[in-house]
Amino acid sequence: MSNKALLYSNTPPSKIQEKRFVEFLEKKYGESYSIIWKQTDLSEGSFRLKVGSEVYDWSNEGRLLQLKDALHKLKFKEDNIIPLLKDAMEKWNPDAVAYEEGRVITVGDGIATVSGLDNVCYGEILVFSSGIRGMAQELRPNEIGCMLFGDDSEIVEGSIVRRTGKVAGIGVGDEYLGRVVNALGKAIDGKGKIYYEEYRSLENPAPGIIDRQSVDTPLETGILAIDSMFPIGRGQRELIIGDRQTGKSAIAIDTVLNQKGKDVICIYVTIGQKASSVAQLVQNFRNHGAMDYTVVVNASASDPAPLQYIAPYAGCALGEYFMEKGKDVLIVYDDLSKHAIAYRSLSLLLERAPGREAYPGDVFYLHSRLLERSAHLNEKRGGGSMTALPIVETQAGDVSAYIPTNIISITDGQIFLESDLFFAGQRPAVNVGLSVSRVGGDAQTKAMKKAAGAIRLDLAQYREMEVFTQFASDLDEATKRQLTYGQGLMQMLKQDQYKPYKQYEQVIILIVVLSHTLQDVPEDQVKDVILELLALFEESHFDITTRLEDTGILLDEDKEEIIKIAKKYLQERG
Ligand code: ATP
Ligand code: MG
Repeated sequence: MSNKALLYSNTPPSKIQEKRFVEFLEKKYGESYSIIWKQTDLSEGSFRLKVGSEVYDWSNEGRLLQLKDALHKLKFKEDNIIPLLKDAMEKWNPDAVAYEEGRVITVGDGIATVSGLDNVCYGEILVFSSGIRGMAQELRPNEIGCMLFGDDSEIVEGSIVRRTGKVAGIGVGDEYLGRVVNALGKAIDGKGKIYYEEYRSLENPAPGIIDRQSVDTPLETGILAIDSMFPIGRGQRELIIGDRQTGKSAIAIDTVLNQKGKDVICIYVTIGQKASSVAQLVQNFRNHGAMDYTVVVNASASDPAPLQYIAPYAGCALGEYFMEKGKDVLIVYDDLSKHAIAYRSLSLLLERAPGREAYPGDVFYLHSRLLERSAHLNEKRGGGSMTALPIVETQAGDVSAYIPTNIISITDGQIFLESDLFFAGQRPAVNVGLSVSRVGGDAQTKAMKKAAGAIRLDLAQYREMEVFTQFASDLDEATKRQLTYGQGLMQMLKQDQYKPYKQYEQVIILIVVLSHTLQDVPEDQVKDVILELLALFEESHFDITTRLEDTGILLDEDKEEIIKIAKKYLQERG
């Protein structure tokens, strides 16, 4: 018994044509075939041959598609398009290439199930007849589940789906700097097409141990509460965690602003946020001149869940491109709770088994394979780094929920923000007891380490004493002084948004406050005095500030000098 192949054309093939098709198939597969003809609307002289799920296309329509593909792959800029086109036309040799084709069984909610694509790979891009692309996700014996990167209303039951043989990826290149793109790398800021240099798959293996070196350079956030107590190093992953509206994004945004002039490329990935907040964010970056070194990757709440799901991987692929060129990169994922929720809804639609909190079983792997890609590469690999600041939202401060515990265990520490502190006016609302940075200490400058000294211990003592003395009426003088000193510390840690401190400014503040110099300043004036002192140092003590900034070392005589200047200023201030 011979195998069967389906031949589609407008009019039946002649005997000679049929014979040629049979010969073609026998040569290709080494088995005998018989042809069954089916009528379809194709242009005159066009044929399409279907063997199992493979299709050989001799139609004009198919050739046009091939030409379109070839033109799509051209990397052109305005000035070289004509020679490139000429070259492509000359080289173009339409041939019957085989591709695999399947059909849509069901479609809805951004998910399509497709049958007939027997050899499809996990994560492969599929093209639907309407031109919409999707990614193969759930591979089952007779059908696959596919998430769609566009409007599913044009896809109907029975639509044709083609394999592309390519895994999902985005174009990457230097031209992305200063731009706002969607999760597929397409510009959404109305500033025209972005020409990319290479195509990178969304998922890439994380650099191995051998490729890495230890974290040794600080990534300065400009936020005193973080740089002094929970320093972050380039290549580290530090989680920002807290309830809604506790200033999580504010910390990430200030960190991006603070990278100005520091030769760090920033990638801000927004997931599931309102389009208006993202527009606000971009405007903020523009106003502060931060867009020059920043890319915003946005999958807003109104985008389909598949785009929200791939957005962080797209941002990460872009970051890797810069990191591998030896650059230092900072990437913010704002936020991964919404990312997990998008993935949960996709998984449920793909009919995967729900696990804890209805998340699918692989939700941990989802985030670990993303965050593991942050690294500090060794010199052989170019010495670049990618620092990740993932953000996670908690419900009523519950850090033991599923997604927070997952991400806490993947990252190298967390900045825990507390609503009580936030509402009490302590902003940024960093909870000193629950926050930690596991590797950044090695990256702190010597000056900072020396200046920050025992600040965490002092704060812990203050908190303990505050609780202890809450209901006590008469306190002895020493306890009172301890309390006012503690209150001064808390005031020192208050910092306005968009006002990052320079390193030397942080060192000066720490020296002045930790030496109890501001002991007698009323609590509500501490912040003002600090700002006045900083202005004084900037105006008239250039030698100390430049020495601190350039060397990163704090000399004992400089320390004494700083305290002396502060004391003198306070005396004059009265
Ligand atoms: P969401 O959960 O909505 O994402 P969030 O935790 O990211 O919120 P933000 O949007 O960063 O919080 O901040 C909430 C509000 O608090 C904003 O209006 C912001 O301007 C304000 N805010 C944040 N940090 C500070 C600060 N240090 N000083 C004053 N106001 C601040
Ligand atoms: Mg936010």
